[in-house]
Order: sequence, then C-alpha cells, then structure tokens
Amino acid sequence: MQSSKKNIASLTSASSFGGEEALLNLLSQIPDPEIPVINIVELGIVRDVNMISEKEAEINITPTYSACPAMYNIEEDIVKLLKENGITAKVKTQIFPIWTTDWITDQAREKLRDYGIVPPEKGAGESHLHRPKKCPRCGSENTSEISRFGSTLCKSTYQCKDCLEPFDYFKCH
Ligand SMILES: [Zn+2]
Repeated sequence: MQSSKKNIASLTSASSFGGEEALLNLLSQIPDPEIPVINIVELGIVRDVNMISEKEAEINITPTYSACPAMYNIEEDIVKLLKENGITAKVKTQIFPIWTTDWITDQAREKLRDYGIVPPEKGAGESHLHRPKKCPRCGSENTSEISRFGSTLCKSTYQCKDCLEPFDYFKCH
C-alpha cells in the first residue's frame, strides 16, 4: 500500500481540481448499472482514488461479482465522466480484498430497501448460506428462494410462503 493513497473514509483535504474528495463526488454521480438508485461509491465498488497529477487520476475499483459484465460498463463510465471534467482516469481493478456486502453504506442499504430489494445483513459475507430472514411485506420468516439468479446476476428472487410476496435479495458474496 502506497502511503500517498488515501482511503475513502479518511478523505479530509482537497487540493488542485478539488482533489480526491471532488473525485469521489463526481464518481457518486455514476449509478450502479444494476441498481440505479445507488451509486458506485456507496456500494463500495470505488476503493480508493488518487490524483497522480493535476489532470490524471487513478481509480481503484473492486468488482462486486467476479462475473458481473456490468463492471466493464462501470470502468467506461468512470473514464468518460472524468474526461468530461478534464481528468484522465486510470482505472485499476483490484480483486483483493474481495468485495463484500459489508462495504455497502448504511445510506445505500436504506435506498435498497426503499427500492424493494432486501439489503444484505452486515457480516453476511462470511457465510455462503446467508439468506433473507424476513419478508419485506409481512415480516414472516417463512421464505424460500425461487430463483437463484433473479432479475440480475447479483440478486436472487425469494418468495414469502405466508403472503406469497416475491422479493429480490441482494446476494453478492
Ligand atoms: Zn410475507
């Protein structure tokens, strides 16, 4: 880890163009390709950003799902958006540490819930058997998976056996 890099959580100061904080604000405009209500920063895809010169930035991203074709779009979106702002982006894909749903911010979890997707529980990344416990409609714990791959690769579809409400569960890792 280079000392010049800053973690998202520790970003405090700004420099030149606005520095890393302005970069993050820009990147926050990019929605997740699969879940448009949350952006790639909230989702934890953007791991760190670093201005390497006045007009060049290095962006490290971690895919949420190794086979997610959406990651290619994200890289293109980042390059395009920064270019529009006069910045040349070097996007690096960082596989390790592996993305976990724990990196999703609390704010983004609320947005997921509002969007009708049951957000993953914190710590769920440690278990392969994690699954939603409660139906978002009636609160019943009597739920079952009806489709491993829901509307997208990153979600699976569940159904409540009591009220029969089908719902999506965000299941990446
Ligand atoms: Zn229910």
